[in-house]
Amino acid sequence: MSLFQTIKTPVVTYEQPLGLFINGEFVKGVDGKTFETINPHDEKPIVAVHEATEKDVDIAVQAARKALDGDWKQITPSERGRLLTRLADLLERDIETVAAIEALDNGKGVTLAKGDVTASAGCIRYYGGWADKIYGQTIDTDPNSLTYTRHEPIGVCGQIIPWNFPLLMFAWKIGPALATGNTIVLKTAEQTPLSALYVAGLIKEAGFPAGVVNVISGFGRTAGAAIAAHMDIDKVAFTGSTLVGRQIMQVAAKSNLKKVTLELGGKSPNIILPDANLEEAIGWVNLGIFFNHGQCCCAGSRILVHEAIYDKFIELFKQRAEQNKVGDPFKADTFQGPQVSQLQYDRVMGYIKDGKSAGAKVVTGGDRHGSEGYYIQPTIFTDVHEDMTIVKEEIFGPVCTVQKVRDEEEAIRVANKTNYGLAAAVHTTNINTAIRVSNAIKAGTVWVNNYNTLHYQMPFGGFKESGVGRELGSYALENYTEVKTVRIQISKS
Ligand code: ADP
Repeated sequence: MSLFQTIKTPVVTYEQPLGLFINGEFVKGVDGKTFETINPHDEKPIVAVHEATEKDVDIAVQAARKALDGDWKQITPSERGRLLTRLADLLERDIETVAAIEALDNGKGVTLAKGDVTASAGCIRYYGGWADKIYGQTIDTDPNSLTYTRHEPIGVCGQIIPWNFPLLMFAWKIGPALATGNTIVLKTAEQTPLSALYVAGLIKEAGFPAGVVNVISGFGRTAGAAIAAHMDIDKVAFTGSTLVGRQIMQVAAKSNLKKVTLELGGKSPNIILPDANLEEAIGWVNLGIFFNHGQCCCAGSRILVHEAIYDKFIELFKQRAEQNKVGDPFKADTFQGPQVSQLQYDRVMGYIKDGKSAGAKVVTGGDRHGSEGYYIQPTIFTDVHEDMTIVKEEIFGPVCTVQKVRDEEEAIRVANKTNYGLAAAVHTTNINTAIRVSNAIKAGTVWVNNYNTLHYQMPFGGFKESGVGRELGSYALENYTEVKTVRIQISKS
């Protein structure tokens, strides 16, 4: 099988790399295996890509190690920053193509995919700005010594990303790792390998030395597990399910105790209090759960509404959800495309079935949309109680539950009744209420009168079982540096 293929999308025709990107080249896997990636809109294969196994992970790690100890070390921090900003420029140059790849491979609407490309370029440029601003401290302990700290790269970083934001997760991962001088072996999700391979070509074009970024396509149980267990990987960063995150931490501990950061699942509460601007709140609630087809780890999937406005809220929210344009990702006004895969479709439909049989009421949706593709109607459940599976477990689809709460205190109690702690929101026009509630909620991000408004300058990550460490902002830099203390004795003469 060849290493490139021309792909025609409804908006662009482009050259898709298919190989593993190792040591600056697209190559076949050692075992010669390939796997198909499926278009979730029509359930047909788009193309087959080369598959990495443990042996390819090994080769990629060797390339990353060599680059770390060689060319990459010789490059000044400012030059690292320049390479990152150049990559951001190239992404923006190719926005139409990259957005089309995301729409094709992931199923997200092409207009929203353009937003992902812009946010990815912004993130990479932002970390480019950090590259020459990574400082240690000088510490005055006594007159006879000089002590300072260096923030050194951790080394070779394994990065494992999911399929819900294939490009954006790629950017969140490589930005801080490269700004701080690390090298990378990154595995994309098996459902969505295409955009990262295309961007690997841009990494080469930007002028990064060979081996600094290696991008491999492959499966979790093989290539992913090999990254987590590798004895020459110094750090692993993972975004995905809590189940797999737990495994990665165990494997990392059992192997070489590599550093671990995890960005995992959620079951985030979205609280609407009686003094909220209801019309605006409905818009945010709708975006909170249905953005990216509910495939967001921070999706506002548990909606908690004060009893005084509950009936009005349900009426307006139902109307709003029914206006969401569901359909072909390549239509410019599509808001919700298909779920990413048959497996995800089945999982989400399984939860819907479970909710119905547990006695929850479907206010809208509750079924597949159309007859082809992994489309699911935006679905709102009411009449739920705290013990129902659909209230407790992450569904990762366009499905939410609405619970009625008596007052602020009950809202906080119910909001925190979860093992997760990724995000939350409160809608109120009272600043004191906003601060009280956001202080009381155990979550890594609390939005007040908005939802899902992530930004590369703002740290993001989870309390409790939603993760370890923070991505984005200056906080992410800490995940990618080791602090070295140097103490020098000053001679008297
Ligand atoms: P989902 O269930 O939504 O697909 P996963 O957590 O399974 O989410 O997948 C997220 C990423 O983790 C993907 O790149 C996947 O290949 C990878 N992965 C899955 N299982 C493992 C594993 N045991 N070890 C390492 N990576 C894995």
